[in-house]
Amino acid sequence: MKKIFKALTILTIASVSLVGCGSDKEIETAKEAPSASVGQAEKDKEESGKKKDEVTKKEEQENKEELKNKEKENKNEEKEDKGGKESIDLSVKPNEMGKVMVLMYHNIGEEEATWVRTPENFRRDLNTLYEKGYRAISLEDFAQNNIDVEEGKTPVVFTFDDGNQNNFNIIEKDGKKVIDPNSAVGIMEEFNKEYPDFNMTATFFINGLKPFRQDDLIEYKLNWLVDNGYDVGNHTLGHNNMSNVKDPLKIQKYIGKQAQFLESFVEGYKVNTYALSYGGRPEDKHTDLLAKGEYEGFKYENVAILNVGWDPSVSPNHKNFNPLAIHRVRASETNVDNVGMYDWMEMFENHPNRRYISDGNPDIVTVPKKYEENIDKEGIKDKKLYLYEEQ
Ligand SMILES: [Zn+2]
Repeated sequence: MKKIFKALTILTIASVSLVGCGSDKEIETAKEAPSASVGQAEKDKEESGKKKDEVTKKEEQENKEELKNKEKENKNEEKEDKGGKESIDLSVKPNEMGKVMVLMYHNIGEEEATWVRTPENFRRDLNTLYEKGYRAISLEDFAQNNIDVEEGKTPVVFTFDDGNQNNFNIIEKDGKKVIDPNSAVGIMEEFNKEYPDFNMTATFFINGLKPFRQDDLIEYKLNWLVDNGYDVGNHTLGHNNMSNVKDPLKIQKYIGKQAQFLESFVEGYKVNTYALSYGGRPEDKHTDLLAKGEYEGFKYENVAILNVGWDPSVSPNHKNFNPLAIHRVRASETNVDNVGMYDWMEMFENHPNRRYISDGNPDIVTVPKKYEENIDKEGIKDKKLYLYEEQ
């Protein structure tokens, strides 16, 4: 289901970007072509009045072409209208410069603790987010500024660190192997069935060679995740704190070997996101190796690097956005020092202008004019910018 949805999204993006790239040119040709061919036809008629048959034939052909071009023109106009600023509903107060929560989970378990969320609380998190108008997007889409959520809604990113068994557990039920309904994946899948418009997805950051701990199910689980619209990310080979690693070869080994290991199970999949263990970064001169490097001939490249954080991320449209240093929010209520996800949700309730609110159109970046100076005008790429005065 999710796979199909993902494929559809890719198709939509592909067709939208094709239209985006070629639209002006196509419209131009379409507008010019009919009149040019009509002119040509008239000229032809004058010049070769005797060759009636030929002319009729030619005319027919040209009429056909004209009709075709007109159809093309209409189609383009339709697309233009659909993608235009006039389609944006300003009553939802879109603000695509607002902040986005990238939630950091670790364990799902029976007893709530600093790094453990109970199944009940995780379900409550999902329900609360849904009710308060949040919708899930993938980390990769967030990092690459491909946010596509319903108008008036706020994107949210889910991440799980450490690849614990309680994230994705397989149990036996009536002689069948099933996903543990109290593991993170089980809870998310159940929620997704009930609220498909939440577009549930998450990235699992895995360290070491025992993802999700059930040794004989590693390949099955990693493939299942990718096939069902989830992502697998890098959390280093040895849960390494890179602030203690001075040797550039070792930095590349801890990242590269882990990516290679994970990718070896899933054909064609690239592990391209990385959550820093302990939030540690190496000294400045080696910091580029977090994003790009090579170990024993295996090359890795990360489009998103996550800190261990305490606050929501700035929007990818903001000039301060750095996909290689994305802030996260603790998805917990225990020992969060007033900067847990519920604290931030409350802050957004009290200050709705700080929250990312989608205009519903992924090709347009809609922002209240007062935030104009902080927009990364290169970062929005080929999207149209729509600034408006707030009422
Ligand atoms: Zn960790």
